[in-house]
Amino acid sequence: MMVMAAEDGSPGDVNGPAGTCEFIDRCPLFELFSLPGALNSYKINYCTSDFQRCARYQRALAGVKPAQNLLPCGKLLNRRPIRR
Ligand code: SF4
Repeated sequence: MMVMAAEDGSPGDVNGPAGTCEFIDRCPLFELFSLPGALNSYKINYCTSDFQRCARYQRALAGVKPAQNLLPCGKLLNRRPIRR
């Protein structure tokens, strides 16, 4: 996995379409965010747009496995852990 800055200095992702997180297929929370409801805002505001801000994404890039219930905003989802 490799994330590089574009020549214009903006963050660029060489592994996937611009604006879409490369971890969508294996992130245990993305499926939850895809359901109708309040959590859907995470998909819109992070997963399919500004994913570089996501706390889960940042930990994964650093080689740290995020807590199962870690939300993109850095708070913990107050539910049972998600199994995948
Ligand atoms: S929650 Fe974060 S790591 Fe998971 S798919 Fe969305 S942006 Fe990517």
